Amino acid sequence: MEARHIQDFSDGGNVTYHWGYAERQVPCKNDVGSCEYLDEVYGGHDRGMVYVGIFWTTVIGILFFWALFHRMSSTRLSRTASSISNRYLLPEFKRGRWLFGRTTRLQVLVLAILIGYLSIFTFAGISYKIWITPVKAHPGVYNTRSSLGPWSDRIGVIAYALTPLSILLASRESLLSVITGLPYHHFNFLHRWLGHIIMLQSVLHTIGWCIIEIKLYQPQPSVATEWIKQTYMIWGVVALIILLLLWGLSTRYAQRKFGYEFFRKAHWILAILYMGAAIGHWSGLQCFIIPSMLLWALDRGIRLGRAALIHYQIMPDGKGLFKTIDAKVTHFDEEIVRLDFTSQVRWSTGQHFYVTFADKGFWQSHPFTPLSVSGPRQAYLFRGKKGETKRIADSTLATLPVILTGPYGQSVTEKLEDDCNVLCITGGTGITFVLPVLLELANSTTTGSLELVWVIRHDHDRKWIARELDLLRATDRVKITIVTTRDPLSLSNVNTESNSNSDDDKSLPLQTPTTELSEKDTQTHHRPDLASVVRDFVSSTDKGATTVYVSGPSGMITDVREEVARYNDPAKVWKGQQEARVELIHDERLE
Ligand SMILES: Cc1cc2nc3c(=O)[nH]c(=O)nc-3n(C[C@H](O)[C@H](O)[C@H](O)COP(=O)(O)OP(=O)(O)OC[C@H]3O[C@@H](n4cnc5c(N)ncnc54)[C@H](O)[C@@H]3O)c2cc1C
Repeated sequence: MEARHIQDFSDGGNVTYHWGYAERQVPCKNDVGSCEYLDEVYGGHDRGMVYVGIFWTTVIGILFFWALFHRMSSTRLSRTASSISNRYLLPEFKRGRWLFGRTTRLQVLVLAILIGYLSIFTFAGISYKIWITPVKAHPGVYNTRSSLGPWSDRIGVIAYALTPLSILLASRESLLSVITGLPYHHFNFLHRWLGHIIMLQSVLHTIGWCIIEIKLYQPQPSVATEWIKQTYMIWGVVALIILLLLWGLSTRYAQRKFGYEFFRKAHWILAILYMGAAIGHWSGLQCFIIPSMLLWALDRGIRLGRAALIHYQIMPDGKGLFKTIDAKVTHFDEEIVRLDFTSQVRWSTGQHFYVTFADKGFWQSHPFTPLSVSGPRQAYLFRGKKGETKRIADSTLATLPVILTGPYGQSVTEKLEDDCNVLCITGGTGITFVLPVLLELANSTTTGSLELVWVIRHDHDRKWIARELDLLRATDRVKITIVTTRDPLSLSNVNTESNSNSDDDKSLPLQTPTTELSEKDTQTHHRPDLASVVRDFVSSTDKGATTVYVSGPSGMITDVREEVARYNDPAKVWKGQQEARVELIHDERLE
C-alpha cells in the first residue's frame, strides 16, 4: 500500500506494520503536531481492527450458543424463554411501521442492539482533537488536521467488516439457517437494514475525507486534485457509485418501477461489482471482501449443484442428461394456477422449492411451497402476479417443463409435542403453507386438536385443493372452516365442517364488512375476526401447548401475532402449564 500522509520513507528508518493499513515510519520525523496526528491515525485504525475483531467474535459467539440452544431438546427453560419472547417480542412494532414495515419487536430489538454496538465502535478509541501543522513544501501554509481522518477511516473499516455478514444474511443456501434453524428469508429484514447501514457508513466516510482533502488540507486546489487522481481514490468513487445504485434500486419504489426480477438480478450483479471496486479502493481490507465474494459464489454454486442433483439423470446408454420435469397445469379463474407432477425429490413439511418455468429459458426461479406432504406427488398453487406467474396464469399451457431447486427452509412440524393443538389460519394461496401441516398431523399420532380456517374470495375457490380437502375430511381429525369474502353476504359465507369428535359448530364471528373494493367488485368484504378465532381455539383446548400456523396477507399475520402474544403466560409455563404456551409459525412470503 502506498505511503500515507506525510511520511517520507525515502530517508530510511524502521517501519511498523498495521493490519489493513499502510506501514508506518518510526520514529516519526515530522513536526510534533503531525506526529501526534499520525499516532491518532495509526492508533485509531489498530483499535478499529480490534473492535471489528470483537464484533465478529461476538457474532460467532451468539451463533454458537444459538446453535446449542436450537439443538437442545425442549426443556422447562427453553419453553419459558420462548413463551417470554412470544409474549413481549412477537407483536409488531406498530409505532415503527412507517419505517420498518410490519416487523416484530424482536427484529427491531436485534437491529437496535446491532446499531448500538456499531455506534460504540464507531466513536470509541479515538481522541477528538485538531492539529494545525505546517506544510513542509509551502512555508507559511498550514494544514488543519483533525480526528475526522481517523473517524472517517474507522467508519470505512466497519463498512468493510460488515460486508460478509450482509452476504450471509442474504444467502439462500444459508449457513445461518443451518446454525439457527431459522428459514433463510427470515434474515431479509436484517439484510435490508445492514445494507442501509453500510450505505450510510460509506457516504459518511466519503464526506469525511472530502472535507479533509478538499477543505482542511492546504494548499488548495492542488491537494484535492492530486488526491482525487490517485488510483485508490478512483476506485473509491466507483465503489460508492455502485453502492448508491445498489441501494437505490433496492427501494420499494424502484422494485415497483422496474419489476422485482430486475431488482434481483441487478442486486446480484451490482453486489459483486461493488466488492471488486471495494478491493480496488482499499486492498488492505480485502480480508473482509474476499470471504464475502466466496460466500456469494458458494451460494450460487450450491444452488446450481442442487438443481443438477435433481435433474441430471444417467440415461440407459450411460450418457448424462439434464431433464426438466413435466408438470400438469390446471388453470382456475382469477389467475390461479395449479401444477401437479411426480418426482424423486423429498422434503419436510414447511419447506419450499425454487421453481423455474423452463418453457421460456431458465433465468428466473421463484419460491413456491408444495401443498402436498413429501412423496412422489408434488403439487403447487399460485396466483398470477405481474411477472412470471402472470405469464403462466395468462397462458393456456396444459403442461409446463419445470426445474426445481431445493428444498429450502426448515421443517415446521418436527418440534411439535404429541399433545400439541394446532390451529391453521390462512388466506387464498397461503393454503399451500398450512395444508401439508394438517395432512401430516391428521395422519399422525398427535392427540391435539386440529383446526383450519381458510379465507377465500369465492366458495368455488375450494376447487383449487378439492383432492386435499377430501383427504383431510377422510381423516375426520380436522375442523375445517372456510370463509368466503366476496360472495354475496349470506349464511353460507362461513362454512364449518366439524370432525365427529368436536362438538363445537357455532359459526365464526365476522368483522364488520368494509366496502373498499373497486367499482368492478360491488360486493362487500367479510373477513373473519382472527383475534376471536385464536381466542376460541385456545380456550377450547384443555391440555397441551398450541401452535398457530398462519400464511396470508400481512395484515392477517399482524392480527394473529397480537393474539398469540396475548395468550402466552410465561409464569404459568414455568410452572409446567403447557396450555399457557402458544407458538406462532408464519410464512414470510409477503415480506
Ligand atoms: C418461501 C416462499 C414461498 C412461497 N410460496 C408460494 C406459494 O406456494 N404460492 C404462491 O402463490 N406464492 C408463493 N410465494 C410467493 C411467490 O414466490 C411470488 O408470488 C412469485 O415469486 C411472484 O413471481 P412474479 O414473477 O409473478 O413476481 P412479480 O410480479 O415480479 O413480483 C411480485 C412480488 O412477488 C415476490 N417475488 C417475486 N419474485 C420473487 C422471488 N424470486 N423470490 C421471492 N419473492 C419474489 C416479491 O415480493 C414481489 O414484490 C412464496 C414466496 C416465498 C418467499
